Amino acid sequence: MPNPLTIHTATVIGVDGHPIQVEVDLLRRLPSISIVGLPDGAVRESADRVRSAIQNTGWQFPRKRVVINLAPAGIKKSGTLFDLPIAIAILLMDSQIETSQPLTTIMFVGELALSGEVRPIRGALSIALLAQEMNYTHLVLPQQNLLEASVVSGITCIGVQTLQEVIHWLGSKWSPHPIPSTKTTQHTSSFDMDEVKGHLTPKRVLEITAAGGHNLLMIGSPGCGKSMLAKRLPTILPTLSLDEAIDSTRIHSCAGLLEQDGLIIERPFRAPHHSISTSGMVGNAKLLPGELSLAHNGVLFLDELAEYRRDVLESLRTPLEDGEIQITRASGQVTFPAKCTLVAAVNPCPCGWRFHAEKICRCTPAQFQRYANKLSGPILDRIDLHIWVEPIETDQFFTQSHPESSADIRNRVQRCREIQRKRYQDTTFFCNADLQGDALWEHCHLDKQSQQWLIEIAKQELLSARSISRILKVARTIADLDQMNNIHQDHVAEAIGYKVGAEVIQ
Ligand SMILES: [Zn+2]
Repeated sequence: MPNPLTIHTATVIGVDGHPIQVEVDLLRRLPSISIVGLPDGAVRESADRVRSAIQNTGWQFPRKRVVINLAPAGIKKSGTLFDLPIAIAILLMDSQIETSQPLTTIMFVGELALSGEVRPIRGALSIALLAQEMNYTHLVLPQQNLLEASVVSGITCIGVQTLQEVIHWLGSKWSPHPIPSTKTTQHTSSFDMDEVKGHLTPKRVLEITAAGGHNLLMIGSPGCGKSMLAKRLPTILPTLSLDEAIDSTRIHSCAGLLEQDGLIIERPFRAPHHSISTSGMVGNAKLLPGELSLAHNGVLFLDELAEYRRDVLESLRTPLEDGEIQITRASGQVTFPAKCTLVAAVNPCPCGWRFHAEKICRCTPAQFQRYANKLSGPILDRIDLHIWVEPIETDQFFTQSHPESSADIRNRVQRCREIQRKRYQDTTFFCNADLQGDALWEHCHLDKQSQQWLIEIAKQELLSARSISRILKVARTIADLDQMNNIHQDHVAEAIGYKVGAEVIQ
């Protein structure tokens, strides 16, 4: 074996894989082990796990001084995924085992238990994508991460359960486990719009939200169905493309939250509690993704918007605009993806019964003012659609027989997204909600009559320039749902109806 020996591995920073080399040298000195190259606590503890795993697998830990260098030295190494490459490097360097595989084209990752068992890691998909990009031929990784990593084409993933299996595979004495079949990419949500009786206006607005990529605010008394409606939004958003599915899976994998095996095939729905901290929302000091990134390609639902801390809502402001979060810490700068639909829900007053037909609101003007102040501000500026959700009437519950299914609504949404994809293909915009500046006026052009009408309404209702641009974007989506090139007065009128809510409680 060359002196020193190098084994290829990788680490994950944010949601991206970075290549790391494990160099090992054995010196004829008093037996000891040292790991250098900016290791954190978990990496330093690797020495003890590797020693036990080697011995409990029936091999000998070298009676020499073992020096392990993790290169490049500039990157801080954290986590437990270097255990497996370190163990392999030590055994090869000590000539206890041999390899018939070319080591320069193989990447190894995995945590070792003291018994020699290989345990799963975070971020396996990001590492598989890195291995593919760097033209490695094989990735040896924990069996539990195999399904997730095997969606990456052009690289052979070897899932292993024990250190012994890796050693036998290197010596061509063991064939890898077959890759389990992946789940089909069908819509399998447990929710469906056909379960929602009544609520015709909120359902229409959810369709517009999904079709134009807008954000939505729902105002209504407790128990009127705001959460129930929000949970069904992912079922009418366009189906996830393979690239989007890989992107979402990668983020959940890096957060250690990949519940199912293999790809995430449904759009994520995240509903963090209002006690969440800023780091929980946008990402934390260990550079783990926050709720906003976990909702990437899906829906972030903030129930009881007024209860969230002001700094948490402030932290959402720039990411909602940019579709990504930049976090700078002593340990480095990372970018997390954060392109999601924001759905917020709020009661009309602190007690919840303001404007209610039967119940009486007992809030004082001062209490209400405090509540309204909490709601005003940056986050509402990012929300195009504001609606009231009324409790469903008892007779609607019994009379309406077959509400439309999510699949039917999704078909219309997909058709509408296709219109937008063609319209914005040479621009930086993705959907109507992204429009701004000159492009807004170009694509949301009104005929003379509609324009005159909107100007009159704007004067009457004292609409701000920002409100008008929101109305135009929503009107554009409504026209697209009607498959019309030009925005008509009806479209504008409907859009105006979906913006009055928040003003009432401010
Ligand atoms: Zn009240």
